[in-house]
Amino acid sequence: MAMPTDNSLFEQVRNVVTEPEWLLAKPIIEEIQALKREKNAVVLAHNYQHPLIYHGVADLRGDSLGLAREAADADADVIVMCGVHFMAETAKLLNPDRTVLLPDYDAGCSLADAITADDVQALKKRHPGVPVVTYVNTSAAVKAASDVCCTSSNAVTIVEALNSEKVLFVPDRHLAKYVERNSEVEILTWEGGCVVHEEFQSADIDALRADYPGIDVIAHPECTKEVQDSADAVGSTSQLIDWVEEHRPEQVAMITECTMSDNVAAHFPKIAFKQPCSICPYMRRITLEKIRDCLETMDDPVEIDPRIVPGARRAVRRMLEYSRVDS
Ligand code: SF4
Repeated sequence: MAMPTDNSLFEQVRNVVTEPEWLLAKPIIEEIQALKREKNAVVLAHNYQHPLIYHGVADLRGDSLGLAREAADADADVIVMCGVHFMAETAKLLNPDRTVLLPDYDAGCSLADAITADDVQALKKRHPGVPVVTYVNTSAAVKAASDVCCTSSNAVTIVEALNSEKVLFVPDRHLAKYVERNSEVEILTWEGGCVVHEEFQSADIDALRADYPGIDVIAHPECTKEVQDSADAVGSTSQLIDWVEEHRPEQVAMITECTMSDNVAAHFPKIAFKQPCSICPYMRRITLEKIRDCLETMDDPVEIDPRIVPGARRAVRRMLEYSRVDS
């Protein structure tokens, strides 16, 4: 799918990207568009990617679940994942015959680093018979050790679909407690957390409300309970976007990775977006230059240990089946 690289694209992003930034990026964006055509490649971008990537070169955009679904349906020889390592692994699990590229292998995730497959096996021994739901922000090896994956959009649906009084939910302790508060299921969890979302404090929200009376505050469930309790609504990245679309507030603060707020702001020029800013250092490792370079060289495609592929793929596919029923 060709994207316009003329001024019509700049018009879409001009409230979040300066003209000098745009003029510097334009030649690289054009190189990437040409390489995509040449290699029959599709670029997937997570909502936390820089606006020049998100609006400039991505063919498909979304949260972890959206990208997992798009990856499953991708009609291309090559998939470039503009996101972090676990997302590229998920794309490869669902597209074993396609080349999946990650522009920077150091794009990791504090949640994915918080738990190993051995940790999951030890939990299962300690709680025999209790099903394990693994947040999609984990390695393929951890997914393979679990029963089913979930994202923040479908976590409650998937936990409830297991029909178990008790569920092991790893590794994000804040999302786990959010699920427990929104279901009838007892949740056992792990001490993982997102370094980006844990930075926000309820005092940040108090300060926003004092500075911008009447502002709506919406938060991601990877934030602490105190922050979630201070917000007007809580939801996954796609649910937060839907909330803005539906409510069209005069001013809003999205308490999540702040690049996403910029990406959403580009679509809603009449809404004033305010936020305490916390940027994901892993997502920021992806740049236009690295996207161009990986498409040029096609070096180092994503590979997953064949011994863990079947179990990890089963956990992701189960998630997609459950969430298709939900949506
Ligand atoms: S925002 Fe948090 S959960 Fe998302 S990739 Fe960055 S560290 Fe991981």
